[in-house]
Amino acid sequence: MRYLSTRGHADRKRFCEILLEGLAPDGGLYLPEHYPQVDAASLQRLRQAFNGGQAGGYAALAFEILSLYIDDIPAADLRALCDKTYTEAVYGTPQIVPLKKLEDGFCLEALSNGPTLAFKDMAMQLLGNLFEYELARRGEELNILGATSGDTGSAAEYAMRGKQGVRVFMLSPHGRMSPFQQAQMFSLMDENIHNIAIEGVFDDCQDIVKDVSNDLAFKRAHKIGTVNSINWARLLAQVVYYFAGYFQATTKDGEPVSFTVPSGNFGNVCAGHVARQMGLPIRTLVVATNENDVLDEFFRTGVYRVRASADTHETSSPSMDISKASNFERFVFDLLGRDGARTQALFGEGLAREGRFDLSQDPAFADAATRYGFRSGKSTHADRLATIRDVFQRYGVMIDTHTADGVKVAREQRDDAGTPMVVLETALPIKFAETIVEALGCQPERPAQFEGIEALPKRVKVMPASTAAVQAFIADTCAAA
Ligand SMILES: *Cc1c(COP(=O)(O)O)cnc(C)c1O
Repeated sequence: MRYLSTRGHADRKRFCEILLEGLAPDGGLYLPEHYPQVDAASLQRLRQAFNGGQAGGYAALAFEILSLYIDDIPAADLRALCDKTYTEAVYGTPQIVPLKKLEDGFCLEALSNGPTLAFKDMAMQLLGNLFEYELARRGEELNILGATSGDTGSAAEYAMRGKQGVRVFMLSPHGRMSPFQQAQMFSLMDENIHNIAIEGVFDDCQDIVKDVSNDLAFKRAHKIGTVNSINWARLLAQVVYYFAGYFQATTKDGEPVSFTVPSGNFGNVCAGHVARQMGLPIRTLVVATNENDVLDEFFRTGVYRVRASADTHETSSPSMDISKASNFERFVFDLLGRDGARTQALFGEGLAREGRFDLSQDPAFADAATRYGFRSGKSTHADRLATIRDVFQRYGVMIDTHTADGVKVAREQRDDAGTPMVVLETALPIKFAETIVEALGCQPERPAQFEGIEALPKRVKVMPASTAAVQAFIADTCAAA
């Protein structure tokens, strides 16, 4: 399998070459040259791997799917990496991603049983093991620099803690994360994890990361890398749970299932698109957004319009607060018949200049719904509260704010044919306690391992919003090692 850029660059790369890279040289995103097809026989084999493996079923399924895309890691090593990643010890349940039935034909797929209680663990935990493996093979080191306002940063830290050859420098806005999120990140005592609280807002943190990445001499000298959501390996890891959800929601192959995905950067639902392109019988992929409805607007109107910072809302489902959807280019590339030149024209200078593009008059736009199965909808703070309340009263299940956006939109999009609808549960309610209290008047359940974490000692360095200060800290840390 070789990988190409969505913007038409001539290079073709292998999996391990793009594993540690971000964007392609032309600014595009990497995609496989083709999507391997699963026919009826291979779907049956995958179902058996998943069901037959008992506790190891998810790891077995992950190995089978990853093997279709990765041919530069020996099979035995890849199998060991999957077995080490998807364990009951890490996810607290042998099924890893169990379905929770709400009513007939309507269920949640629990993706947030990992160490940080959000679905980003599903991919990031694998990425940690892949990075450690590949860096050891090359005899290299990597310093991961990132900015976070919550979920991504903690998932990255929990995935990379204690890993050989990797250090993490994670910037967050000083005093602006929830006490639970701060405790999750800052209580990590691993020597390779460095929390940096910046005296500023999230945008200041992101600007510093950009500045450092643009300082090519520094970047090369200090082996700076990232783990953001455009990484193909993250997306690939997410493809696996669409298969796992499908096998749990059906008893025989070929029955269609629909998925609703609480969406921000379009990474999660893009993995669903890949699974569907491989031949998994997904009828509809429903994109659920919050007030930041860039994606809902596109699927309704054909217009993709990036929001200015001032038009990006801070909401109670904060992990979906985006101004543009960084993985969306992958889908548009497929939608346009994999035309790299057109994708380049839309996402390159065009978007930088105009802040928007319009496909409403393009015949391809209709394909988004008809050929690719996409629908969309939007949910607001009031919808979120009402949905959390309703799901709790009706089914006795407490859901988080992001999952609530999904449930709200999924209810609007269920079809008349009675196709089972699976809503991806992307976080646990404890992470967003304030809104749960607002909706239900009580505190969310807290998993036992998180009792009292706010009182643990914290390891964090507070710094001014200065690129030079952050660079000096990275340089000193590397020199001291
Ligand atoms: C990151 C995140 C999302 C959005 O996922 P994308 O892949 O960016 O679309 C939704 N919910 C939660 C809880 C998240 O952490």
